[in-house]
Amino acid sequence: MTHHRHHLGERNLRIGVKIWLFFMLFVCVVFLLMWLFQIIFLEWFYESMKIRDTAKLAQQLVSDYGSEDFSDDAQEISLQNEMCIELLNSNGREVYYNCVYNGKCLLHGKESGTLFYLIDLQNSSTGTICRRVSNPTLQNEMLVYGCTMYSKDDGSVLGYLLLNSPLVPVESTVSILKRQTMMITIMLVFFGFLISFYAANHIATPITRITQSAKRLAHGDYAVKFEGGGYAEVDDLAETLTYAAHELSKTDQMQRDLIANVSHDLRTPLTMMKAYAEMIRDLSGNNPVKREQHLNIIIEETDRLTQIVNDMLDLSKLESGAQKLDYSTFDIAQCMAEIVHRYEGVSERMGYQIHLTLDEPCMVRCDESKIDRVIGNLINNAINYTSKEDKQVFVTQRNLPQCVRIEVRDTGDGIEEDKIKLIFDKYYRSENHKREVVGTGLGLSIVKEILKMHNYNYGVNSKLGEGSTFWFEIRDIVPPEKPEDEEIPDAEIRQL
Ligand code: ADP
Repeated sequence: MTHHRHHLGERNLRIGVKIWLFFMLFVCVVFLLMWLFQIIFLEWFYESMKIRDTAKLAQQLVSDYGSEDFSDDAQEISLQNEMCIELLNSNGREVYYNCVYNGKCLLHGKESGTLFYLIDLQNSSTGTICRRVSNPTLQNEMLVYGCTMYSKDDGSVLGYLLLNSPLVPVESTVSILKRQTMMITIMLVFFGFLISFYAANHIATPITRITQSAKRLAHGDYAVKFEGGGYAEVDDLAETLTYAAHELSKTDQMQRDLIANVSHDLRTPLTMMKAYAEMIRDLSGNNPVKREQHLNIIIEETDRLTQIVNDMLDLSKLESGAQKLDYSTFDIAQCMAEIVHRYEGVSERMGYQIHLTLDEPCMVRCDESKIDRVIGNLINNAINYTSKEDKQVFVTQRNLPQCVRIEVRDTGDGIEEDKIKLIFDKYYRSENHKREVVGTGLGLSIVKEILKMHNYNYGVNSKLGEGSTFWFEIRDIVPPEKPEDEEIPDAEIRQL
């Protein structure tokens, strides 16, 4: 156990460390992205953005060209964007210009570059140029952008537009950003510590608490409460474990009950068998009549023992859900007639009268052998508990619109109101227990399990001094395929 846990601890990191590692990974990715975008690509970003903006402005100027407000618009654009403008007609003659650098730009400087860029533009295959040039007069980098204006009608050259704007040096910005990136990274690492510490605590504390409770459960403390807290998953876990503990405690109780009852129930027949076997050995061995009697008692007790063991096995199989229902379609009336027929022997030997009242035949779909068991158990009980004077038992089939109701009535002492709830429990037995047919204290529990599996309603109506009626209702009626022409008597009453 310890070894196992140790092993686990070695392989799996604590949740806090794990969260921290994930966070650090995240920080690294963020850092890398910031470094790439802000520092390495910044210049490239800036330049391509500047080119795009300049191209857009050039486009605007070109489309404005010819309108009345052109020179006003051009001046505003020029001022706003700190951009020099040079407009030439198709012959290369200047038609408009605006310089924001007092003639110090690349286009309007002392050694005016206009002609140079005009030739450059005329030679370019695309009709546009974009040059990055350093300006010795202003000591900075500048962008020269040029485009050819074409006539909308025939596509002939209308003129040329040259723009000149400064490129702000990014080195200083980059160094500021470098520092900022470092600072952000350090801060992220620091907050990562705090957050992962908090998150780990938040996640791990309830889990640790649940582990403690689970350890107590492992030691047999079924009353232990699992507390969630924090978040839904842990709440679910706690709830599930509490439920599991509850179920475990039930099985534990069941096992204890079973052992107590088994030892009690098995001891009685075993004691009897031993006693009679000894009697045969010591006393009646040579007396055939006595010996026969004693042997019969031993055989009866063996039967009883067998039945107890069988009932226990059946019930535990039913309760564990290991047994599935084996559906078949059969006539319930015929089935009941067969069951009652089995009791003819008992009736004859002991003077019981079992009255069977059948309704019309009715096909039902359920587990025949289990329903057979239910009816048999109810009849056994009725025989056991019916009045000893008249010894009557009534078994009735009634076809109702939705179901077939089966009733087993006796004329015994009835069951007290507060006991009715208990009799379907395992090993519940009234004190005045007299056996005519072997009973095991499990009969009604088996009845209950089977009817519950079928999902059938069942119950008992009882009046003290008048008797009890146990009933259940089979819901799975199979409608007849063809309407039958034959006339069937309303009710067939048979006496055994
Ligand atoms: P068993 O009959 O073997 O004791 P059951 O589970 O069949 O076990 O019945 C449990 C208890 O229910 C019985 O001990 C008895 O007290 C009560 N009981 C069952 N059937 C009847 C009945 N027809 N009339 C009166 N009491 C009954």
